[in-house]
Amino acid sequence: MKNRIALVTGAGRGIGRAIALKFAHQGARLAITARSQDQLSNLAQEIRTIGGETMIIVDDLSDDSAPARIVDQVTKGWGPVEILVNNAGIGSSQNPKPLLNFSDDFWNLTMQVNLTAPYLLTKLVLPVMIEQHWGRILNIASIAGKVGGFHSAAYSASKHALIGLTKSTATEVASEGITANAICPGVTRSEMNTLRLEYDAIRLGVTFEKLEETATPLGRRLEPEEVATLAVYLAQNDARGVNGQSINVCGGAVPF
Ligand code: NAP
Repeated sequence: MKNRIALVTGAGRGIGRAIALKFAHQGARLAITARSQDQLSNLAQEIRTIGGETMIIVDDLSDDSAPARIVDQVTKGWGPVEILVNNAGIGSSQNPKPLLNFSDDFWNLTMQVNLTAPYLLTKLVLPVMIEQHWGRILNIASIAGKVGGFHSAAYSASKHALIGLTKSTATEVASEGITANAICPGVTRSEMNTLRLEYDAIRLGVTFEKLEETATPLGRRLEPEEVATLAVYLAQNDARGVNGQSINVCGGAVPF
């Protein structure tokens, strides 16, 4: 991955941050984007202390024109994106509701950030990847892209659809030296997930700690770094045979 140009969305914290850091350790150049400037600055500082190169792009992926602005900035600064990690996402925890009371606005916002933004970013980076006969698309989906969940219709639907987008992309680019894969994390320690566990603890009448213990067969939540390890593997040359897959990092919670 030495000197490869990688773009990681939602890199300010959680899983995106862990992926960006592991990529930087591998020598990739990291364009990192999210809305929170302070979190990106903090990550950039850490990347620089390990001798890595980084570019901060503050933008909001709920805006349809953001993907073009982001890719344009990377291309003008460094060159074409070679590794795209569609990680930014909105969790059900921001507005959990049974389907009958689901907010249409929240449905649309979730689809925009979790599905439409990855679709637009993929379309923007693919042409040069095809020209260069090399590229990696990593979509951070979820085990919620394989099974349904309570009060999370938009999230689960968006992640199922993101896996579908991944499979279609993979089929179309397979002969071009490009791979597209989805990583499906299980319950992983992050701001988004903590909010969700807090909601579920109240919903189920159990303590947060009990829920955390039973979140995966490991008896604990996963750590973002455990998810990032798979991202590093999939981004490498050696992983060229792995294409169109949706791979779980869930401690055994979902066996398919
Ligand atoms: P997180 O800590 O809440 O991080 C989410 C990231 O996405 C943040 O950097 C956030 O930055 C960014 N983001 C959110 N809305 C955005 C917007 N409108 N525009 C641009 N950036 C935006 O959550 P996480 O758990 O690490 O989640 C990362 C990915 O993993 C998500 O796609 C999530 O669905 C997936 N995932 C997580 C888990 C889990 O248990 N944690 C499980 C399965 C899948 P700003 O708020 O600064 O914009």
